[in-house]
Amino acid sequence: MTSNIMPTYARQPVTFTHGEGAWLFDTEGKRYLDAVSGVAVCSLGHAHPAVAKALCDQAGRLVHCSNLYRIGLQEDLAKQLCDLSGMDNAFFCNSGAEANEAALKIARRYGHHRGIDTPKIVVMEGSFHGRTLATLSATGNPKVQEGFAPLVGGFVRLPYGDAEAVAAVDDPDVVAVLVEPVQGEGGVRIPPDDYLARLKSLCERRGWLLMLDEVQTGMGRTGRMFGHQHTGVTPDVMALAKALGNGVPIGACLARGVAAEMLTAGKHGSTFGGNPLACAAALAVIDTLTRQSLAQRAEILGQRLLDGFRTRLSGRPGVIEIRGLGLMIGLELERPCTRLVGMALEQGLLINVTAERTVRLLPPLILTDAQADDLVERLCSLVEAHLDAAG
Ligand SMILES: *Cc1c(COP(=O)(O)O)cnc(C)c1O
Repeated sequence: MTSNIMPTYARQPVTFTHGEGAWLFDTEGKRYLDAVSGVAVCSLGHAHPAVAKALCDQAGRLVHCSNLYRIGLQEDLAKQLCDLSGMDNAFFCNSGAEANEAALKIARRYGHHRGIDTPKIVVMEGSFHGRTLATLSATGNPKVQEGFAPLVGGFVRLPYGDAEAVAAVDDPDVVAVLVEPVQGEGGVRIPPDDYLARLKSLCERRGWLLMLDEVQTGMGRTGRMFGHQHTGVTPDVMALAKALGNGVPIGACLARGVAAEMLTAGKHGSTFGGNPLACAAALAVIDTLTRQSLAQRAEILGQRLLDGFRTRLSGRPGVIEIRGLGLMIGLELERPCTRLVGMALEQGLLINVTAERTVRLLPPLILTDAQADDLVERLCSLVEAHLDAAG
């Protein structure tokens, strides 16, 4: 296959023409059950009527005008996100990496504000924060960093889920902690229940900012509107993107308290960030999520899927762990299982494998019970066949 696209992705040999809810259709008319959702992006499913209508209406009115002017829809969106999260304000951008870039810039400014010339940020092993130079430097995956030295400095890396390790940091230059409530790309890693609360009290005592990368865990995915809402902890900074626009590119960096005062005129910006079209999509997403209680639905569906997978696969040789939070589900196997992606595709099922050995499921929050049961049935058969073949 030749193409003029830079080969940054190992793509599956399929092209989709349209979708409807949890279904995608390819150029041959074949139908696929989508348990990837464009990697946690299309949480309302494909071609959602409320998002489609908001986009069509807004496209006929005003797509873009620049942040040189006030944007009503951006102000509305910031207000809704702050009301939902308890944050004070928002900066809008176009991706998860950019939302984290804004967070990193807030932390650096906060450090300088405190008289620290070389501020450092605690980040975790196994994390993923994006592909820009600063965010790949923050990312805890050597494959993402390989060949891009010199990396951006000022990061202190610690094991994920280990609050003791953070407590043991004795470096006066540290000003912030950047962490995912659940590691997504890292293999659906769920930290101990008290992890964020312990990080929060540590940060409070030391004057550090607690910065949460909720790019994947945000917008209802884990069974709460934001992943940290399982814990009662409010962060100082929170990055959002992925599902915020259901596929329309939009990211946001929310901040609270002193962190909300760091990015002033001239200190940050984005040409497209928070334009009327993207904000109209995000407002339709939030309206649908809240009106249909889809975060609660994610919690119920997630439990249904976990129960189904555990009933069929728990204790089977080759299966290490079946875990999840809401509709972020990982089936960790003993050996690499990337070939399951192609096997599932053949059978009209879209799944993802991350960290080589973990089947990751991120189905849309609008999945029906029947679709959830179909997903369990089909995936379990595939995993069993894979394990049998591997011996
Ligand atoms: C996907 C992801 C990112 C990067 O988002 P992009 O929109 O691809 O830049 C950052 N952090 C987390 C936790 C993610 O899952």
